[in-house]
Amino acid sequence: SVRVRLAPSPTGNLHIGTARTAVFNWLFARNQGGKFILRIEDTDIERSRREYTQNILDGLQWLGLDWDEGPFFQSKRLELYAETIQTLLDKGLAYRCYCTSEELEQMREAQKAKNQAPRYDNRHRNLTPEQQAAFEAEGRQAVIRFKIDDEREIAWNDLVRGRVVWKGNDLGGDMVVARASGTSKIGQPLYNLAVVADDIDMGITHVIRGEDHIANTAKQILLYEAFEAKIPEFSHTPLILNQDGRKLSKRDGVTSISDFQQMGFTAPALANYMSLLGWTPPDSTQEIFSLSEAAQQFGFDRVNKAGAKFDWDKLDWLNSQYIHQMPVGELTDLLIPQWLEAGYEFDPKTDRPWLEQLTTLIGPSLTRLKDAIKEGKLFFSPTVEPDEDAQAQIQQEGALTVLQAIYDKVDFDQPLTTDGIKEVIKVVTKETKLKKGLIMRSLRAALTGAVHGPDLIESWILLHQKGVDRVRFENIL
Ligand code: GLU
Repeated sequence: SVRVRLAPSPTGNLHIGTARTAVFNWLFARNQGGKFILRIEDTDIERSRREYTQNILDGLQWLGLDWDEGPFFQSKRLELYAETIQTLLDKGLAYRCYCTSEELEQMREAQKAKNQAPRYDNRHRNLTPEQQAAFEAEGRQAVIRFKIDDEREIAWNDLVRGRVVWKGNDLGGDMVVARASGTSKIGQPLYNLAVVADDIDMGITHVIRGEDHIANTAKQILLYEAFEAKIPEFSHTPLILNQDGRKLSKRDGVTSISDFQQMGFTAPALANYMSLLGWTPPDSTQEIFSLSEAAQQFGFDRVNKAGAKFDWDKLDWLNSQYIHQMPVGELTDLLIPQWLEAGYEFDPKTDRPWLEQLTTLIGPSLTRLKDAIKEGKLFFSPTVEPDEDAQAQIQQEGALTVLQAIYDKVDFDQPLTTDGIKEVIKVVTKETKLKKGLIMRSLRAALTGAVHGPDLIESWILLHQKGVDRVRFENIL
């Protein structure tokens, strides 16, 4: 049965590209009734950090990408890699290379001078035991290189890209599979080796990863052959591009899932959006779906080869759809942290009914959760600073008359109802003989400090419940 894996390196926060790869792995696993395995590739001790691992786990969980096995940590599996490398050495498929970095540098310079692509010229492939011993005596550190036959043609049927063909010649010479390895010891294993050892050990049937790993796939196929292991299916997903058609990067503002979370995107909207980055559902007009719905329809036949442009407008649109459809309780749970973070004062428990009413009121105007900070501001503070338009409105002829008349008719110590407010407005319209438009606009300006906003009567009721409406009238009158 199908077994796929996500193999992030904890050298940074969960990247949008990695998360999208996770989405495709998850969708495929769920579609096939297979297993989704999580493996943390932390063999690079210098660049790996615990907090990045945590960020990756949190991000996947937040998105709803649950894994069936793991997380496994490569740093705990070093024995397996050492054995694997030993196998290559024993079979004569790998050897110790003693070249110094200066030598390698010279090699590259010479190649550059001849306009050749940089590659290792395999010069230590056939050292005699005496030559080896001499290098060791000099105290040189060796790396272990896996032999790559330049004449080899390596081909596979990629589930996204169709037939892919590589020449051994294009792989840069015999490849390093482990660093700093003396005669008796095997040093830190490198990516391609550890990945293949793990993918074999974990019974991975489908390797689904970004297009930037295509050359690695060619190398890894040679390793599978060396181990006489079954070669999995490969699927290289298209890159995510920015508006200029270049790979989405830090310069585009955000790159990690926690950034998106910070910006106020909801998990289901972001997951939904990522599934559309390169995949088109069979009904191409369908844009809103949960991960489980997508999983029922997912297949690599509908994954594009071309890069997927990141479209902020579309993500915003999707996010707003999710926010607008969310049950009020759920949305309130998401907005409370925003309001707390903004420093607004309230009690999440005792103010809950009021908070839910506020959510109902401003929910439809939110695109990102963060918008609730701006939209909610006037409801949390005792006073408001009227903006320019509101000031102009209050200065209009008749505005103060209207406000005074309303103020006089309201009993601020009693609860306000929609009908009660409507009645007051009706009476004041009659009394002052002023236009209803003027009345409503002036009332809004006085209460909210703006001339546009959510439903006025509902807004007033909320302000009244907070006991801040009276002051707002008095500040003006
Ligand atoms: N650790 C690799 C990365 O983060 C994994 C690539 C793969 O899936 O093999 O890019």
